[in-house]
Amino acid sequence: MSFKLHTIVKFDIKIRTLTGLHIGTAETAIRIGTLDRPIIRDPIGRIYIPGSTIKGALRSFMEKKLLLNDQIKDLILMDDDEVFKKYGRSKEEVLKNLGWKRSGKFTYYHECGETNCKICTIFGRASDRESVTPTRLYVNDAFIDLSDTVTINMVRDRIYEILGKSEEELENIRKKFEGRRIYEQIHDDDYIKIVREFPTEIKGENVIDRVTSRANPRFIERLPASVAFRFEMDFHVYENRDKELLKDVLEYLYELNNIPIGGSKSRGYGKIKVEAITTNGKRIEVTDKNSYSKWVNGIVEEIFKGISS
Ligand SMILES: [Zn+2]
Repeated sequence: MSFKLHTIVKFDIKIRTLTGLHIGTAETAIRIGTLDRPIIRDPIGRIYIPGSTIKGALRSFMEKKLLLNDQIKDLILMDDDEVFKKYGRSKEEVLKNLGWKRSGKFTYYHECGETNCKICTIFGRASDRESVTPTRLYVNDAFIDLSDTVTINMVRDRIYEILGKSEEELENIRKKFEGRRIYEQIHDDDYIKIVREFPTEIKGENVIDRVTSRANPRFIERLPASVAFRFEMDFHVYENRDKELLKDVLEYLYELNNIPIGGSKSRGYGKIKVEAITTNGKRIEVTDKNSYSKWVNGIVEEIFKGISS
């Protein structure tokens, strides 16, 4: 079956950290001084949240809500031996037949070959199955939004040191970024200088060695609360059923308010708030679930009216 791409619907999404946020680099990351776990920055020093982190959080939440039934839950909790005794096959095999794959010791994710599967159609499949249905949702990296007053104010007392400009000029610097797409902001020289010097917190944590019971202090870097980020999300429209899929994506996007991202979630890190969404030339401030759902219904109707005509 061949698919024709009708259009790409673009969303500009603003989120804000509500607690400290730690999105780390790989374990093999270079250690800077005594800092064991730095946050991720791109090669020129811009702090960002990988699009895959946001997409992954949304995917696993939707998997849990739409696909994770009691049978799968029980299987995931069972020992490998137990599963083998009961089914005569390995745990991996049994779960694979039900559309679940293992990634890491305790993590399972859904992926199947069903054309009608919502999750796989929206989020995509590993390359060998890409041909079943084309991926609908693409999430780009999120960067700090310096058009946000609260966020740029965090560097107020250091702005002279960073840019050689006085505090009074901070508002003019902010205004320069206002109304600009986030991917335009990030190429600006002032943007790069400010974000490179953006204040982060270093927290000491004690990790107990399970063998020796000795406490090992380690240092974790995190972004403070109240930092605004913006990212763009693209939804590719191929066929009529994509209207329902897009509605689902937007409905569940609200749940990012309830899904912490990044590391040390059990310590309360990584809570975020979805603050505003702009699409089709319209912007909504996200407040409560009810008014948001109403907006989703309206905007999806509007978008698809434009496509089907
Ligand atoms: Zn699937």
